[in-house]
Amino acid sequence: MKQDIFYYPLMKIGIIGGGQLGKMMTQQAKKMGFYVTVLDPTPGSPAGQVADKQIVGDFYNEQKLRELVNESDVTTYDIEHINTEALKQLENEGHHILPSPRLLEIIQDKLKQKEALTKKKIPVPRYEKVETPDPAFFEKFGFPLVQKARKGGYDGRGVVVLRNKANLENAIKAESFIEEFVDFEKELAVIVARNTAGETRCYPVVEMVFDERANICDLVIAPARITKEVEEQAKEIAVNCVEILDGVGVFGVELFLTREGQVLVNEIAPRPHNSGHYTIEACVTCQFEQHIRAISGLPLGSTKLLTPAAMINLLGEGSGKPVIEKLRQILSIPGLSFHLYGKSTTKPFRKMGHVTIVDENLERAIEKAEKVKKTFKIKGMTG
Ligand code: ADP
Repeated sequence: MKQDIFYYPLMKIGIIGGGQLGKMMTQQAKKMGFYVTVLDPTPGSPAGQVADKQIVGDFYNEQKLRELVNESDVTTYDIEHINTEALKQLENEGHHILPSPRLLEIIQDKLKQKEALTKKKIPVPRYEKVETPDPAFFEKFGFPLVQKARKGGYDGRGVVVLRNKANLENAIKAESFIEEFVDFEKELAVIVARNTAGETRCYPVVEMVFDERANICDLVIAPARITKEVEEQAKEIAVNCVEILDGVGVFGVELFLTREGQVLVNEIAPRPHNSGHYTIEACVTCQFEQHIRAISGLPLGSTKLLTPAAMINLLGEGSGKPVIEKLRQILSIPGLSFHLYGKSTTKPFRKMGHVTIVDENLERAIEKAEKVKKTFKIKGMTG
């Protein structure tokens, strides 16, 4: 039996990355009585605004990473593009960094990630490493296909769909791999939590609907409108992925549901995920509290869905200081909860906030979300 005595603050948590995910992690950690330090290059970052302390510095700055890790009992991150070499060194010195930097290294390289999953028989779309980027190679694989940069991609950047030979002029020049184009029926996601004791919990399967213009997820529907069989299959695959990677923390597992009813893994995010924001209002324990529990060696909370929900990302339109239009109008929608992340400037398609609508009727929640998408705007002062 582990010792069950704590003092205040319960523990010191370090978070690399001060964006919205870091902010919501911090808010939950503060709720539970943790001390939080955030590392982010932008002073007054979203997470920095609610944390006990922000260290201003780059995610690749060894000195700053060391400063953060040194003053934290456990360190985590809200972003994948960070210095894993430095983190591995710090872990070797005995610091607690979760999910582990070795896992992060695999996830950072989308090809390595795919290989780790296929080795354990997790179903993924057919793929091949691009060794020679000549037209014959792509043609042999077969069009349409999706080319992905191995590293550095985010929110659809580093992903191109090549429909035919003529499209090859858009091909990615960096190290990459190609994948069959999945003519999916739906994109699904599952949030999985796993703590230091290896206990796992799975949230409901959700649907992710993408904005075609920016290839960015803008609507999440919880629970997904799928059969019981697909739901069970998706959950089992998602939990297996996290166990294979020996992950500790909260993970977002993105999936494709093919027209034949098969579930394929697209990719895994080693952190709370956009598709799990709805859990704040709709589940007993939200993904952010769960992440903090998981990495700090505490028992996991219930992932039970209390009510159907729809979440919509509030994406910037235009650039500059944010101008928020029709806030009163959307706040009068019953069941709506509004989140503004606190970013001082906006850009086209930048995630500025989100809203979650809970409603005992899922279709009505979706209708309300569509209404928000049509009316509410975050524009930029300079156009
Ligand atoms: P990112 O890491 O930038 O989110 P993803 O690999 O998740 O990149 O791809 C972004 C989106 O592109 C996916 O959510 C999906 O809509 C589309 N996509 C990715 N891979 C495929 C594929 N093999 N077939 C069809 N669409 C795909």
